Amino acid sequence: MLSPFNLLLITAGFSVVMLFVLGSLMRSHIPGLREWAGANALAAIALVLLACRGLIPNFLSIVVANTLAGLAICIIYLGFRRYYGLLLPLKPIALSLLALFSLFLVFHYVYDSIAIRTVIVSWFLGIYCLAIGLLIFQSAHRSLTLSPYPARFTAWVSILFFIGYGLRAVVYMTGTDHLISTMQASSWNLLFLSLGTLVMPLLTMGAIMMVHDRMLSKAIQDANHDFLTGAWTRRAFFEFAERELLRAKRMKRSLSLLMFDVDYFKRINDTYGHATGDNVLIDIVERAQLEIRNIDYIARMGGEEFSILLPEADANAALAIAERLRARLNSGTSIVISPGQQSTEKTVPYTVSIGVATHRADEGIIALMHRADIALYSAKAAGRNIVITAEEAMVREA
Ligand code: GH3
Ligand code: MG
Ligand code: MG
Repeated sequence: MLSPFNLLLITAGFSVVMLFVLGSLMRSHIPGLREWAGANALAAIALVLLACRGLIPNFLSIVVANTLAGLAICIIYLGFRRYYGLLLPLKPIALSLLALFSLFLVFHYVYDSIAIRTVIVSWFLGIYCLAIGLLIFQSAHRSLTLSPYPARFTAWVSILFFIGYGLRAVVYMTGTDHLISTMQASSWNLLFLSLGTLVMPLLTMGAIMMVHDRMLSKAIQDANHDFLTGAWTRRAFFEFAERELLRAKRMKRSLSLLMFDVDYFKRINDTYGHATGDNVLIDIVERAQLEIRNIDYIARMGGEEFSILLPEADANAALAIAERLRARLNSGTSIVISPGQQSTEKTVPYTVSIGVATHRADEGIIALMHRADIALYSAKAAGRNIVITAEEAMVREA
């Protein structure tokens, strides 16, 4: 039969199971996991102590058990703050716990009242649930996320628990006698007890869903962004290119492509070192971002070769963008070079050669890239630091 005693022990068991699930995710290093695991361990201890009421000293089963339950919800809250990279308000939280502990001492040893204690702990847990819900609603949109569902689920669960605890506090404040003992198997008690036992597992499940969401978004982010420069990867580029090409065909709009490559990049590496070469690549992407529109895509195709996809840009517009880009990059970059201990700031000159192609009807992305590539090759052959269009390249080859 489902007595309060059994219910508490089963919930403690759930918390232990959650510990294993959280443990399996620990290597993802997502912030918050350690706190949520700690909170579940504390909750399991608190629940066992609560269940042992009458079998162990009241100090443990009442004062310590409830303070530990309070501590567990505080740590869950801190876990969500860590997840969103927010500061941890440790002092006010420690003070709130001290208040909870003191009030439990008073309302057990000075004026023994289970009703008042229940009201106190309900408010305490309820307010932290509300704080968790509001925190997630406020922070979710600022976080790297794939789906809004895990955060929404967790936030709404927290708000529902706040309402449940609030209701419990109100019922106990206006309490009738049959409610007075929490361990009595009245239907109200079982209802509130069940609600209380769901808090930890459901909040932890929400947190686990949020961890999975963060892991997946990070994996996709890593697959789509070049680690060094932050530009799109080749993989992402092909995805966008196919999509933009279909759109251009459907809407009968222009689509152009720039392919560019750093001139004599090997010399830059040889002269200034590989780290400076890396900084040149970072500088290229930063400056190119200033030159392109926010509907354009810049991707690092490999080594020191980049592509820029220009939706809605006809041949003239693409040529103008390419020329502006070439001129901007031509000015070189100021880079701190640190050979050994000394660091000096030095201008590292570099240039790029650019090939331009504009989409022709019935042409696929590979064919478009091939024409831009030939134009780039032609720009290299023409002496570098120059923009050449695919049409011009054909004339030059002929
Ligand atoms: P060209 O004008 O014909 O393009 O000459 P280049 O020297 O730029 O071309 P090449 O293909 O001979 O050399 C490219 C160099 O780019 C060789 C390679 O070591 C270097 N490189 C490729 N990826 C990176 C990188 O991530 N960082 C750095 N620092 N160098 C890189
Ligand atoms: Mg090169
Ligand atoms: Mg190259």
